[in-house]
Amino acid sequence: MKINELFKSIQGETSYAGLPCIFIRITGCNLRCSYCDTTYAYEEGMEMPIGSILERVAGYKTKLICITGGEPLSDKDTPSLINELLSGNYTVLVETNGSYDIRAIPQRAIKIMDIKCPDSKMSHLMHWQNIAYLTKSDEVKFVLHSRSDYEWAKKVIEKYRLSEITQILVGTVFDALLPRTVVQWILEDNLNVRFQLQLHKYIWEPQTRGV
Ligand code: SF4
Repeated sequence: MKINELFKSIQGETSYAGLPCIFIRITGCNLRCSYCDTTYAYEEGMEMPIGSILERVAGYKTKLICITGGEPLSDKDTPSLINELLSGNYTVLVETNGSYDIRAIPQRAIKIMDIKCPDSKMSHLMHWQNIAYLTKSDEVKFVLHSRSDYEWAKKVIEKYRLSEITQILVGTVFDALLPRTVVQWILEDNLNVRFQLQLHKYIWEPQTRGV
């Protein structure tokens, strides 16, 4: 598999935020979001057999793993890697951009699925049928760039009754919207979502890689 980065850090997002976590960043992505902060993962990476990945991971002595990208499902071997990690009793979070069929992700992994808002310029590529395969252990993530993204997200949440199906995360494109502004909107609308900051961008410099 082509791996862009493999490192241990603090999980900065999701309901697992704040916990020590091993990150496996897989090279390659089929989307080109307007605000992408991991463009370096489109091509750069090193070939690693699954066995070597498992060895590196075992050395970190942490049982929470986040498979991210790029887009993990752009590599056909990702489901096998996830299965190996699950067999090793790891808790596996899989961050996916929502454009691939998430049934490729093994059942016991936790899916963290983006729902791309219009300002990303990628919302037309969402695989909307995925919503039917989400569970309460999974999480969907809206990354907002503007008030119109927020209004769009509210409509999607209502249309698909997302809060009855799964957990909902709302965050902002770093530096595009003030967190307090979005929090105010959420409170005014009584929206049943979890607001999140990308913790790692506050702990380290926002552009720092491998943290
Ligand atoms: S899906 Fe993620 S990695 Fe791919 S372009 Fe969008 S933000 Fe970047």
